[in-house]
Amino acid sequence: MHMNDKDRCDEMKPFIYDLNLDDLQAWAKENGEPAFRASQIFDWLYVKRVNNFQEMTNLSKELRAKLEDQFQFVTLTEITKLESKDGTVKFLFGLHDDHAIETVIMKHNYGNSICVTTQVGCRIGCTFCASTLGGLKRNLTAGEIVAQVVQAQKILDQKGERVSSIVIMGSGEPFENYEATMKFLRIMIHEKGLNIGQRHITVSTSGIVPNIYKFANEDTQINLAISIHAPNDMLRSKLMPVNRRYPFEDVMEALRYYLAKTGRRITFEYALIGGVNDQPEHAQELADVLKDMLCHVNLIPVNHVPERKYVRTSRNDIFKFQKVLAESGVNVTIRREQGHDIAAACGQLRAKHMELR
Ligand code: SAH
Repeated sequence: MHMNDKDRCDEMKPFIYDLNLDDLQAWAKENGEPAFRASQIFDWLYVKRVNNFQEMTNLSKELRAKLEDQFQFVTLTEITKLESKDGTVKFLFGLHDDHAIETVIMKHNYGNSICVTTQVGCRIGCTFCASTLGGLKRNLTAGEIVAQVVQAQKILDQKGERVSSIVIMGSGEPFENYEATMKFLRIMIHEKGLNIGQRHITVSTSGIVPNIYKFANEDTQINLAISIHAPNDMLRSKLMPVNRRYPFEDVMEALRYYLAKTGRRITFEYALIGGVNDQPEHAQELADVLKDMLCHVNLIPVNHVPERKYVRTSRNDIFKFQKVLAESGVNVTIRREQGHDIAAACGQLRAKHMELR
């Protein structure tokens, strides 16, 4: 017999990674333990990075048993691991409920960057993206997002390396799973834990306007990236149905608020799709919108998704597009592509896996 997801959730113990240090302190208090126990547990989880409660050897056997009784570690089972020649490693991890998610470790000369997933599937519906093909299955919990980074760090530990930066650019829309995403971020930057530098973390959104305002009001130095992909409302609606809910101009207004509030440079992601949004006039229109904004445009040659018909912009036209922006004074780079030989484009691994089941 197959239990449905709800039955499973009801009987499931919470993930230990769902608790931040405050939650652990509250738990310690409720259980008649001194507050420093919470710090010890946090240290075991994020600094010593143990695999189970039994390894938390400075806690009494009784306390370890109690933790084990009430919580579980997130189990990310490795379904697939693909290694690129350039050092990029892409994982398809199985979750406790048979869903699967993708996590990527990218190797740069300055360190290792982890790309995490925030939802199983996605409901945003961008026409060029593989993550959204099967719709949204469910949100990940904060702990399930945390576990992706902890797992990656454990893998890097074998080589004595560190997770130096995080991008929330895997599958899913982080601003539609806002609370879990923020909780995850605060655990990542905690100085008693993994202590990832805030300026080395970027959260990317398709433009969920109310949560851009909310994010602007958070007291963090975490970077914001916006998937813009078009220079105007009409074309953006065609490529990204979310633009009908949160139109181009509303996104820009929210970003102006963000800039005024934080003074932090915004990154715009622009996937160049052959013949669709990659003409010089698109570049000029984009330049006119962005030229007075503290921002940076990242041009991404669109990744081929078998289910979609889009083609890539030629190398030459990418440079032309870049030149138009640069000549208008817009800060622009072309994204260095990694893991191309392992189909690292968003959601492709999971899509393939679902097909085979
Ligand atoms: N939902 C968030 C987080 C995903 S980030 C967001 O939309 O920002 C992943 C980035 O890759 C987004 O900018 C997304 O638009 C882009 N992307 C998706 N499919 C792509 C493809 N086939 N080629 C290039 N970029 C793609």
